[in-house]
Amino acid sequence: MTTIYPIPTLANRQNALFLEDMPLNELAQKHGTPLYVYSKAALQQAWDAWQYPNADRTIHLCYSVKSNSNIAILQFFAQRGSYFDIVSKGEMARVLAAGAPAAHIVFSGVGKTVAEIEFALEHGIHCFNVESLPELDRIHEVATRMGKRAPISLRINPDVDAQTHPYISTGLKENKFGIDHELAVEAYVYASTLSGLKITGIDYHIGSQLTTLAPFKDAQNRLFGLVKTLIERGIELEHIDLGGGLGVRYQDETPPAPAELIAQSLQGLRDAGFKHTLMYEPGRSMVANAGLLLTRVEYIKPTEYKHFAIVDAAMNDFIRPTLYQAWHGVVNTVTHDAPLVNMDIVGPICESSDWLAKDRALAVKTGDVLAILSAGAYGMTMSSNYNTRPRAAEVLVDGGLDFVICEREVLADLWINERLLSPIV
Ligand SMILES: *Cc1c(COP(=O)(O)O)cnc(C)c1O
Repeated sequence: MTTIYPIPTLANRQNALFLEDMPLNELAQKHGTPLYVYSKAALQQAWDAWQYPNADRTIHLCYSVKSNSNIAILQFFAQRGSYFDIVSKGEMARVLAAGAPAAHIVFSGVGKTVAEIEFALEHGIHCFNVESLPELDRIHEVATRMGKRAPISLRINPDVDAQTHPYISTGLKENKFGIDHELAVEAYVYASTLSGLKITGIDYHIGSQLTTLAPFKDAQNRLFGLVKTLIERGIELEHIDLGGGLGVRYQDETPPAPAELIAQSLQGLRDAGFKHTLMYEPGRSMVANAGLLLTRVEYIKPTEYKHFAIVDAAMNDFIRPTLYQAWHGVVNTVTHDAPLVNMDIVGPICESSDWLAKDRALAVKTGDVLAILSAGAYGMTMSSNYNTRPRAAEVLVDGGLDFVICEREVLADLWINERLLSPIV
């Protein structure tokens, strides 16, 4: 029996689980657990899926750095000409450290500080995605002081229901993101009066893990209507940025392919007679199914009600299950004759919310290494040191080779910035 996994380069061979040509059990032995592992070939497949060679205009993909910000991953995308969507000075510094030009950066986020705006203007980013009127004023002031004109795009909140988990839905008017659709034209007219600003575009980002085209189409129609009004008011834009949010398969979802989304956008642009450059900000769909998390089973704990597999990864390593009630596939990296038992996969942290998967039928023995699938996006970047647990290492697999792209955190580093109240005598 061959199982089709959501990670395209994952397969069972000779009773072992392989990522590309790498047996994952051996990789865990070599580097320790918990261990994030990424497949270079799967990253390439995701990147390729977003290419649309015969478009009638330039399409820039702005990889959303927050989904996975390891500098080796950023370098992978930079080498392929990617643009980057960032939400902090730190993310911008990472993108530069990965060798990408500042001119390929778009800066999103509702809370940009003066220092962040200065940093972005010094380096010369592609544009700010502005989320409020006070932010327009602030960018204008900082740019004027620096003798620059800041390229800006307004992030519009189109008030559409992305039909996804409420925590990752961002395009409803009660969300904190973007400028109200109703106030958008006024905001552009206002921005056009500020000499420190150069209006270059418009954008939205309506949510994450969207598995149908419909919300994208609703949002796009609303946005294109606005662009028409702006043109009538004499405000011309260079680019239209349709955000990120395309979903992936974790369990049995069937999200549209990137090419279907792009085709829908291009059709809408042509119908409207628009010649603008098109941009997207994909994160999850670039990396989620290029990665997994390896974790070793410390104990099997049968109770009267439930079986638990207690593993050495926890909610601090991977918070998506407990934060979003997210379902992730769990596969043993070795196949053997243990009985199939229904169990919860839980971590060692002192909280009942510390679980990675519930009610999975697995054949598992103590000491086995399990793979938590589709963990390439919002995995490592959302990890923490809760319970004073060093963060996991990260490895990239390329064929039969493995490269450490992030060393495992060292325990003593965890309190290196902390200070005692008095010397220890
Ligand atoms: C998080 C985010 C993205 C990426 O979303 P995905 O669902 O990972 O594709 C894109 N744009 C903005 C502004 C974001 O905040």
